[in-house]
Amino acid sequence: MSDSNTLVEVKNLKKHFPVTRGIILQRKVGVVRAVDGISFSIQRGETLGMVGESGCGKTTAGRTMLGLYPATDGSVIIDGDDILHARGKDQLKIRRKAQIIFQDPYASLNPRWTVNSIVSEPMRVHKLFATEKERSERAKDLLGMVGLSPHLLNRFPHEFSGGQRQRIGIARALASDPLFIVCDEPISALDVSIQAQVVNLLEKLQDQLSLTYLFVAHDLSMVRHICDRVAVMYLGVIVEIAEQNELYENPLHPYTQALLSAVPVPDPRKERARKRTILVGDVPSPINPPSGCRFHPRCPVAIEKCKDIVPEWREVSPQHWVACHLVN
Ligand code: SF4
Repeated sequence: MSDSNTLVEVKNLKKHFPVTRGIILQRKVGVVRAVDGISFSIQRGETLGMVGESGCGKTTAGRTMLGLYPATDGSVIIDGDDILHARGKDQLKIRRKAQIIFQDPYASLNPRWTVNSIVSEPMRVHKLFATEKERSERAKDLLGMVGLSPHLLNRFPHEFSGGQRQRIGIARALASDPLFIVCDEPISALDVSIQAQVVNLLEKLQDQLSLTYLFVAHDLSMVRHICDRVAVMYLGVIVEIAEQNELYENPLHPYTQALLSAVPVPDPRKERARKRTILVGDVPSPINPPSGCRFHPRCPVAIEKCKDIVPEWREVSPQHWVACHLVN
C-alpha cells in the first residue's frame, strides 16, 4: 500500500524478451519471461534488497524499473511520477530522480572519456549548470564525496583500480541529484577487501543525501548487513518479502529457506549444526516456466496442488509476504 512515505511503487512489472529463429526473417518462436509480474514498494530512505540465483530476473527487474529495458507491462511510480510512461521533457525530469550503479566497474565506464566527462555527462543530459566549468566544479565535489581526490578529474578509467572505478560510477550516479538508486550487484566484481569499503560508502551517502536504494545482490550475508527489507525472486517472480531480521530468522518460503541454509555461519558450533537444504535440478527455463508454483519441480515439500495452482501472495504477519500453499 502506498502513502506519502512511499518513494517507489512497482505494479505488475513484466519484461519479456522475444526468442527468434532465423537470421533474415527472425521468426518469433517464444518469449523469455525474465520478469513476470512483480509488485512492491520502497519507502523513502529505505534499502530494499533483491536476491535470488543467477537468471532469476533480479538485474532485469532493476534495469526495467529505470526504463533501461522497455517494460512489457506494468508501471513504476517514483516520487509520484510514472517513469515508464512519461515522454519528452517530463521523461527527462523524472529520470533524473532515479539512477543506477552497475555491477562491472570495468565495462560501465567509457575508456576514452576522462573522469570529468564521465561524471559530468548526467549533468549535461539533464541540463544542470550553465557552463562546463560549473559542471567540472560539481564533478570535483562529487569525487570528494566518494573518497577520490579532485585532482584525478582528467585521468582515464584504465588508470584506476576496480574499487576506484566503482567510486567513479557512484559519483556519476549522484551527478543528477537522484532520490533513488538501483545498486545492481555493485560489489560482486570487486576484491573482498574492497567490498566492505564500497558498502560503507553507500551507507554514508544514503545518510548524507537521504537516498533510497534497491540493492540487487546474490551475497545474502552482505544483504543482511545493508538492507532494511529483502525480496526473494525465483524465475521472474517474487516469492517472499520481509524485514531483514524477520526474513533471516523466520524464512517461510522453501526457496528462501534453501538459499539461507547455504549461508555460512561465523560461529563454528552453529556452523557444524547447520542443516543444508540442497535443491535438486537446475532452475527451469524462463521460456516455459512450470505451471502452478514455479518452484514445484525443485521444492522438497511440494504437494499435489502445487503443480496446478499458483499460490496466493499473502501477508502472513505484518510486512511479511509470501507465496506458498503450505504457509498459513
Ligand atoms: Fe513448495 Fe508448493 Fe510452497 Fe511452491 S507452493 S514453495 S511447491 S510447497
